[in-house]
Amino acid sequence: MEIIIIGGSICGLLFGIICKGLGHSVQVLERWPTPFLSPRGAGIVLGESVESFFALFGGPLPLPSVRNSHRVFLDRRGGTLRRIERDQNTTSWELLYYSLRRLFDGLPSNDSGATATTSPGTSGARYRFGCEASSIALHEHGQIEVGLATPAKSTEAALADLVVAADGFNSTVRKIMLPGVVLDYAGYIALRGTVPERDLSDAVVSVCVGSIVFYNGPGIQAVAYAIPGPRGLSEPGDRLVNWVWYQNCPAGSDQDREMMTDIDGTVHRTTVPPGKLNQAVWSRQLRRAKTHLPPQFAEMMEKTAKPFVQKIMDAAVPKCAFRNGKVLLAGDAAFGLRPHTGSSTDQAAFQALKLAELLRGLIDIDQWESAVVHRGMELHRIGVQIGMECGLGSPSGLIVDIDSDIRAA
Ligand SMILES: Cc1cc2nc3c(=O)[nH]c(=O)nc-3n(C[C@H](O)[C@H](O)[C@H](O)COP(=O)(O)OP(=O)(O)OC[C@H]3O[C@@H](n4cnc5c(N)ncnc54)[C@H](O)[C@@H]3O)c2cc1C
Repeated sequence: MEIIIIGGSICGLLFGIICKGLGHSVQVLERWPTPFLSPRGAGIVLGESVESFFALFGGPLPLPSVRNSHRVFLDRRGGTLRRIERDQNTTSWELLYYSLRRLFDGLPSNDSGATATTSPGTSGARYRFGCEASSIALHEHGQIEVGLATPAKSTEAALADLVVAADGFNSTVRKIMLPGVVLDYAGYIALRGTVPERDLSDAVVSVCVGSIVFYNGPGIQAVAYAIPGPRGLSEPGDRLVNWVWYQNCPAGSDQDREMMTDIDGTVHRTTVPPGKLNQAVWSRQLRRAKTHLPPQFAEMMEKTAKPFVQKIMDAAVPKCAFRNGKVLLAGDAAFGLRPHTGSSTDQAAFQALKLAELLRGLIDIDQWESAVVHRGMELHRIGVQIGMECGLGSPSGLIVDIDSDIRAA
């Protein structure tokens, strides 16, 4: 089959590698204008489906990761409240992305000096950057026609037997297929960052490396774990510690405007990228961390060079197969999950592995869709529930204000 994948991030690449591995001809269309995506995230918890994907389609090179043997819950003073044995591996968004690019089109490193708009590719796989899909239509011979704008600003129509839309939270294809589904802001943000392990005190390293560490307070959740350092280095000292602080930030509030306005005055809709956070906002967050978070988190924040902000968004679809199963919605385009579940990447791997079963004739399209929707809905429900249990966001508009005690004093 000729397969087009719209979106060349984690989900698009997972699908692309599987389709290529099963002998199909695949082109990935990615609107980002340079050959490699800019780094988007920090740590990724590796779930069962990602591990299965690498076992089946990952080739000989292992994905660099850090092994965590416990989950540790801290109290506000940094003492251990609870310790649960649980093995989970963690990696970074960048390492996963470059591993997948290597598997898909054989590009081993970031060469942003490249000028071609198509990577050299490996047999049956093309990664076309700077190509933005804008329309989807059924073509007369039963194929799907994807309208796209190319880097030369020309338009083009590409034909495919199967189209996978892995175009993220703001999915163009979802808007076309399901115009009634809206992307909702959950009412809180994740303030995040990474810090080199060697910069941290022994007291922090002993708690936060080798464990996934949680602090749950009123209107707060904070999570930290180690990930491999640049180029996958995972020796002690070389690793990074990834931290996240979820906190309420009501839509349209002064706090919302301040938080999302970067050092250059640009107002971002969902993400303030690393290094762009307003200095006054960051200084205030460092002060708040000392009052509201265990000291381990306050130290990690103090030593973070490039924090960033991500708004927590919800998206969930009632169906994700269209045009007789020739157009599929996948990844964040189908279910934008709250990061508490640590499952966004894993859900994409699950969907891609299910596609392998479909392409091998082991299941039909209804079974693929039912499995994907069922899992997406369940993970979405769990993410919303965790947020509510932590007093984060709320459908009723009742939001826990963690600074009210400071203001009242
Ligand atoms: C700022 C940020 C930080 C994150 N950090 C983490 C993290 O630390 N850990 C974690 O587990 N998850 C993280 N995530 C989520 C994780 O990246 C995604 O859940 C996972 O990558 C699967 O997403 P996706 O590939 O479906 O969508 P995305 O990663 O959003 O990719 C969609 C891709 O489609 C492209 N695209 C969009 N529209 C078009 C179009 N019309 N034509 C062509 N291309 C198009 C976009 O440029 C993008 O590259 C983060 C997400 C964001 C936004």
